Amino acid sequence: MDFQHSARAQQYIKKIKKFIDEKIRPVEMQYFQEVHQRNNGQDWSKWSVSPLVKELKEQAKAEGLWNLFLPDTEHGQGLSTIEYAPLAEEMGKSFLAPEIFNCNAPDTGNMEVLHKYGTAEQKDTWLTPLLKGEIRSAFCMTEPDVASSDATNMQATAIVEGDEIVINGTKWWSSGIGHPDCKVIIFMGLSDASANRHSQHSMVLVPADTEGVTIERMLPVFGEYDEPYGHGEVSFKNVRVPLSNMILGKGRGFEIAQGRLGPGRIHHCMRCIGAAEYVLKLLIERSLSRVAFGKPIINLGGNRERIADFRIAIDQARLLTLYAAWKLDTMGALGAMTEISEIKVVAPNVLQQVCDEAIQIHGGAGVSNDFPFTAFFAVARCIRIADGPDAVHRGLITRFELLKYPNSK
Ligand SMILES: Cc1cc2nc3c(=O)[nH]c(=O)nc-3n(C[C@H](O)[C@H](O)[C@H](O)COP(=O)(O)OP(=O)(O)OC[C@H]3O[C@@H](n4cnc5c(N)ncnc54)[C@H](O)[C@@H]3O)c2cc1C
Repeated sequence: MDFQHSARAQQYIKKIKKFIDEKIRPVEMQYFQEVHQRNNGQDWSKWSVSPLVKELKEQAKAEGLWNLFLPDTEHGQGLSTIEYAPLAEEMGKSFLAPEIFNCNAPDTGNMEVLHKYGTAEQKDTWLTPLLKGEIRSAFCMTEPDVASSDATNMQATAIVEGDEIVINGTKWWSSGIGHPDCKVIIFMGLSDASANRHSQHSMVLVPADTEGVTIERMLPVFGEYDEPYGHGEVSFKNVRVPLSNMILGKGRGFEIAQGRLGPGRIHHCMRCIGAAEYVLKLLIERSLSRVAFGKPIINLGGNRERIADFRIAIDQARLLTLYAAWKLDTMGALGAMTEISEIKVVAPNVLQQVCDEAIQIHGGAGVSNDFPFTAFFAVARCIRIADGPDAVHRGLITRFELLKYPNSK
């Protein structure tokens, strides 16, 4: 068993670290403060992309730090999931870095879908500009009226009528929909309620400016709008798109949804681990430098032990996630199902716990926006819900575990 990253991955890790330290870290705090002040509570349609982000993206592209998530050599850098995982970890230490390297959700998942399942025309129209970073996208599956952790529950419709698809319904938690460059939506809707449970839904490409598509509101997360991407509630009223916008084929939405989530979950988890590392670093620095009752805070109460516990938890989470990545690369999404569910529970929970303790160690400063802890906490808390809540993943793990026991039914 070789625990080293490949030579190629090591080179990218070095370059990404340098880029983040030198170009992103010094400007990101101010960038988010500006975006927040400029946009909070305003009409989202009036947003514009900061020239700073455009400039950083060009620099990243010029350095070959672009589309690293895509295993394909033509459009990505040809990295396997296990090679990309440590790069996602580095990106997770910054809120801005994933976008700068064109490696941010939900665009990565959407690009993977188009890359894997799109027709030549769909790729030309949407994948090419997404890969260039010229446009952004949203993924609309979750609905306010049904328990959306079960993808087969979706009620919004995508009905084929002649050479068109007619779309109706309401989606919410559509991440990225507020971005000024969001031009395309991947919509999952019910096409045939009489088909078997896993063949009822389809995925359809909907240009964001199609008549009948309305962003009803943006949803705050713990009171913050998560600018500049945001999460929206979107209504679709008699939206018509050509049949050629169907991805893969009618009734194949569930199949695509499963294919989309494997690598995406590894990326989320590795970013969580990177964030947890960064937060632990800040926690330690603070506890070493601040004195209370005559001692550095690190030497008070059980703080030293807590640091050890976080070191153990982060290292365990990383090893498990890399194992899941290896299984995904070697056995495909089906072969890695249990491990992907395991990390999806573990990694965001570790991040959440480290954030909670970092807040505690920082006292009042910890809950302010002078430090990134509340924002990372919100990320962790949301990832414990998005892409399958913890409870659903635990259910799957147990189901697979019990297969080993013939009497378990
Ligand atoms: C910040 C954020 C961003 C998101 N981005 C997107 C996006 O871009 N596109 C998109 O389509 N969706 C997105 N989502 C939605 C997310 O994927 C859903 O919220 C998630 O799938 C859960 O669906 P639900 O909210 O309907 O919860 P429900 O399905 O109503 O589940 C609620 C709770 O019920 C319990 N539960 C459900 N099933 C089980 C089970 N089998 N066993 C035990 N307990 C269970 C769990 O505690 C679960 O948390 C996002 C969500 C958040 C918070």
